[in-house]
Amino acid sequence: MDRLRDHYADVDRECSECGFVDEDGEWSARTTGSRIDYRHVCPSCGAIEVRTLKLK
Ligand SMILES: [Zn+2]
Repeated sequence: MDRLRDHYADVDRECSECGFVDEDGEWSARTTGSRIDYRHVCPSCGAIEVRTLKLK
């Protein structure tokens, strides 16, 4: 289970546009009502990655 979580963490740090892995990258979180929007800007190409987590 922990291994799986680590795997996802690595994937999330890899830019889907250029493949750059931001080792020290941080996701900025913004809560909007019943969900959390995570945002990360690639330092290499400037692409914006967005993940949305729905709250119950
Ligand atoms: Zn990139």
